[in-house]
Amino acid sequence: MMVTLRTSGGSPAVVDAEFGEHLANLSGTLLTPDTPGYDEARIIWNAMIDRRPGLIVQCANVNDVARAVRFAKAHDLLVGVRGGGHNIAGNAVCDGGLVIDLSPMRSVQVNQTARTARVGAGCTLADVDRTTQGYGLATPLGVNSTTGIAGLTLGGGFGWLSRRLGLTIDNLVSAEVVTAEGDIVRTSARENPDLFWAIRGGGGNFGIVTSFEYQLHPVGPEVLSGLVIHPLDAGRDVLRFCRDFLPTTPEAFVCWCVLRLAPPLPFLAPEWHGKPILALAMCWSGDLAEGERVTAPLRKFGKPLADVVAPNPYADWQTALDPLLTPGFRNYWKSHDFRELSDGLLDVLLEYAGRIPDPNSDILFAQLGGAASRVPHDATAYGHRDAQFVLNVHGRWSDPDRDQACIGWARDLFDAAAPFATGGVYVNFMTQEEGDRVRAAYGSNYARLVELKTKYDPTNLFRMNQNIRPSGQG
Ligand SMILES: Cc1cc2nc3c(=O)[nH]c(=O)nc-3n(C[C@H](O)[C@H](O)[C@H](O)COP(=O)(O)OP(=O)(O)OC[C@H]3O[C@@H](n4cnc5c(N)ncnc54)[C@H](O)[C@@H]3O)c2cc1C
Repeated sequence: MMVTLRTSGGSPAVVDAEFGEHLANLSGTLLTPDTPGYDEARIIWNAMIDRRPGLIVQCANVNDVARAVRFAKAHDLLVGVRGGGHNIAGNAVCDGGLVIDLSPMRSVQVNQTARTARVGAGCTLADVDRTTQGYGLATPLGVNSTTGIAGLTLGGGFGWLSRRLGLTIDNLVSAEVVTAEGDIVRTSARENPDLFWAIRGGGGNFGIVTSFEYQLHPVGPEVLSGLVIHPLDAGRDVLRFCRDFLPTTPEAFVCWCVLRLAPPLPFLAPEWHGKPILALAMCWSGDLAEGERVTAPLRKFGKPLADVVAPNPYADWQTALDPLLTPGFRNYWKSHDFRELSDGLLDVLLEYAGRIPDPNSDILFAQLGGAASRVPHDATAYGHRDAQFVLNVHGRWSDPDRDQACIGWARDLFDAAAPFATGGVYVNFMTQEEGDRVRAAYGSNYARLVELKTKYDPTNLFRMNQNIRPSGQG
């Protein structure tokens, strides 16, 4: 089968996909624009991204991935690598080039004795949580269960367990990687340790990870979790209270603050639906009775409109925010790291929350710190261990005519919040147009990342990502 594919330099190349030496004997599936299933395979979470790859290789196993990489290298193709397809920047897919799609690789194997899990790179967070919770175990992941484990891990990964147990990468024990040469290697603290350092935060720049091995910890089965909702008018007092209270709590507690228009939640009086609110989403992953004591001052503060914090199975709580984060919307994000929530920052957040451009948009800041901050900044590629709060301005809407208004709101809020920020940014929250922030995303780790990129991917085969360019390539 002859297909025209885009090379890394942008020119077209006509190649034989089906009988080419590298893609012969593929266990997975080849999709071209004419094959049934192509459109489903090219669609990703962010509907702003609408790209048409020339060829999609849906890999069934590590050998398929190695074949696809060798094929891409032989023809100097533009390559996208797809895990869960959630990344806001949309680099999982590329126009005209080859997409190496890992989504069929969804096995999760738990070793109960060692308390580890080996996870295929196509897994979603739900795949991992559901399986590990079958053993009463978990590893820190993100808060939306349809996110891909691969992209989340490679950028760092944080969620409800990260203050207590660290980032996802802090719990990575080893990984299997297909290099830019198409070789299959293992990496851990002992095997290829420099590669192991780089993939813990350095994104997809260094190779394609085909499986991850995580350390697991006893979690749940129930966690004290849920929402406390205040009117936005009370937001300043509540956020000031949060600022002082949250850092004093034990690390089993995490609270994320969301400023938005109230969705039609069944536990919220109908007259509040569509009105501006501050939602405190919280999770205590320790002893439940102690959690009631720890969370009481926060839950009793002010006059909440609703308090639905209760013991929930951890795996269920991991899916609780999914209905607000469904695919198919247009999304534009802006993000900053903060060490503290200063009065000036709260003024900015409240001002912009008061003119949110769409009922689906929100301003979120996630509490981090704790165990995630105790890892030295140069121990892994993820450099910003000082971040106590990560702001994500979620512009989210459906009508393309609203693009300018929603993007403009997110950018203006980002600019207004910048004077209070650390200058660091979480690489997994960066959009496609933020390539100039890659250095800032890695801070003082950037120079070492360039060295390792030059060693592992000197031709920049893996460039569809928040790209770290090898030396000699600008
Ligand atoms: C709704 C939503 C909620 C989120 N919540 C959180 C959260 O709570 N915590 C958090 O930390 N992050 C969160 N994120 C950010 C998330 O971590 C990133 O979007 C992440 O990149 C998603 O991974 P993916 O595999 O789904 O994405 P993809 O788009 O498939 O991949 C992202 C990029 O990673 C690279 N890549 C993917 N797989 C591989 C691989 N196996 N080997 C090499 N490179 C690869 C590629 O460069 C690709 O472009 C959230 C994102 C969304 C959309």
